[in-house]
Amino acid sequence: MSSRRRAVTLRLADRLEINEDEQPLAAWAYADIRRADSPAGMLRVSCLTAPALARLEVRDTVLAGQLVSRCAGMDDDIPGRRGVAAIIGWSLAATVSIIAVVLFGLPLAADRLAPLVPAAFERRLGDVADAQVKKLFGAKVCDNAAGEKAFVKLVTAIRESAGLDTSVQSGVLSSSIPNAFALPGGKVYLFNGLLAKAENADEIAGVLAHELGHLKHRDSMRGLIRDGSTSFLIGLLFGDITGSSALIFGSRTLVTSSHSREAETNADGFAIDVMHRLGRPAKPTGELLLRVTGKEGKGLSIISTHPLSEDRLTRMSREDQSASGPPLLTPEEWRSLKSICNGKSDSAKKPDSAKKSGPAKI
Ligand SMILES: [Zn+2]
Repeated sequence: MSSRRRAVTLRLADRLEINEDEQPLAAWAYADIRRADSPAGMLRVSCLTAPALARLEVRDTVLAGQLVSRCAGMDDDIPGRRGVAAIIGWSLAATVSIIAVVLFGLPLAADRLAPLVPAAFERRLGDVADAQVKKLFGAKVCDNAAGEKAFVKLVTAIRESAGLDTSVQSGVLSSSIPNAFALPGGKVYLFNGLLAKAENADEIAGVLAHELGHLKHRDSMRGLIRDGSTSFLIGLLFGDITGSSALIFGSRTLVTSSHSREAETNADGFAIDVMHRLGRPAKPTGELLLRVTGKEGKGLSIISTHPLSEDRLTRMSREDQSASGPPLLTPEEWRSLKSICNGKSDSAKKPDSAKKSGPAKI
């Protein structure tokens, strides 16, 4: 039924009894046992009444001899070249179809399935991912009181302008990586490293608005379905079916892999709209992204799904409107936000184990 290898014990009774952990697994009539192709030093047999791909391998030569002596039809009607070719052909077809599903089917399926996932289930996934993220980056949520107050003020303004309800959770993580991301179930995290590189509240506000755009479009859920199913199907290829490992793999990729270019472009558009509704410019966010990533090489854009920071700045400048509303934070609140991870947090000194995990996601 699967390609998983099992260690079994054999009993040469009136039929060949195959037991696993002292539980009967199968019983093969000697007359139905046939020799299968095998490397030297091993007897490999199949059985006419067993599942077509079931094989028994015997490495003990004495036992193999005893088994052979009982099987009169051992070398009868061995599948000819056509039979072997058919097995190889179907195996290849199965492999190719799984690869095709991973490459073409899953992104499509993810688009259609993501909106159907119940909110409660998505929140549970989000909690798993949340724990993984904190472990992966060795980071804690910063909770310096004045900084926290300023952060809540900023997030609330953006959230209301974005038309999202109060179920959205957000926080600043004490990691020095310049990054920000959204998790399923309505969590948005900003890394202190990005805050350190920011020069004003508008820069950070645009990043938060971008992440809320991912939340609103459920991009993380889509990515989780795509990547989680990918590892599930690859597991299927190797005969190891564990849904939990697929889930863990999926939630890891939430942070380390990027969204599709289309999702990023949509989230940028969403951020520009949100900022303009607040009467604030979008261009500073583009400037922050360019400051973080630098001018990326032209060659990189082909393999990266990420829009180039330069292109994003160009778009944000082109569609920009100058400030028409009050600043989102007072200068004093901005200073408090910048130092939100100072003081209480002890994890800031921990080494960043995830430094090698690739470029900023944002
Ligand atoms: Zn993004």
